[in-house]
Amino acid sequence: MQNKELANRVALVTGASRGIGRATALELARRGAHVIALARTEGALEELDDEIRALGGQATLVPCDLKDFVALDRLGASIFQRWKHLDILVGNAGLLGALTPLGHISPGDWEQVMAVNVTANWRLIRSMDPLLRASPAGRVVLLSSGAGNRADLRAYWGAYAVSKAALDALGRTYAAETVTTSMKVMMVNPGPLRTDMRASAMPGEDPMTLRSPEELAPKIADLCSPGWTQTGALYDFPTDSVQHFRGPA
Ligand code: NAP
Repeated sequence: MQNKELANRVALVTGASRGIGRATALELARRGAHVIALARTEGALEELDDEIRALGGQATLVPCDLKDFVALDRLGASIFQRWKHLDILVGNAGLLGALTPLGHISPGDWEQVMAVNVTANWRLIRSMDPLLRASPAGRVVLLSSGAGNRADLRAYWGAYAVSKAALDALGRTYAAETVTTSMKVMMVNPGPLRTDMRASAMPGEDPMTLRSPEELAPKIADLCSPGWTQTGALYDFPTDSVQHFRGPA
């Protein structure tokens, strides 16, 4: 029997057109959530919608560029009008940017990476905060990366690493601000997974040596469930463990 623990819950997933976001949207729908699927590629969202319907689930498609911040405000207003609350926000969409020395990154590339990986997630939190607080068990999951928090930061991953470190700080701040509520905010480090982003970062790698987004998706869905109790921490998929951020003593 299918586990419908997320029945009647409303979940917004960004970057739902492919990769980790698509697999997560499908898993949330499989567990009974109504999925609001956001990405720019309309055709891919329509294919996702077909798949969700075939599972007996429901989706609302939002073809939108996350850099259109005013559209994110309008989305908050639409969700309020239709549901009055939002139960789950998965901030998954991300951009790798050019892998190049800091001095070679173009200002436009830097700004795009920050806009999609950081500012859009802040704008979503800003727009969805009252809706998430109106849920009996609001859950926020932000897709981070080892690139932003590993002790030995790699050369050439500059804009991406900086954006993911900022995203971790964003999520931890929101966790601190909601710690007395029923809301939980978690970051996720997927590790290397078989997606388009990974293939563009590591073109020489055999994708079949990597785990798939479909393997991670049930773990993300667990973090979205009302039964999840931790906040302000990072779920690390490679070690299947929750890790706590530690600052200098
Ligand atoms: P992906 O295959 O490149 O997919 C990225 C998703 O983000 C797509 O659905 C894309 O949709 C969406 N997106 C990008 N720019 C957007 C924009 N301006 N507006 C709206 N949507 C946008 O990436 P992935 O590998 O699944 O990665 C998902 C998340 O996991 C990212 O945050 C990434 O940094 C993180 N991560 C991945 C790995 C890995 O190995 N795969 C490792 C560590 C962290 P459209 O193009 O249709 O808009």
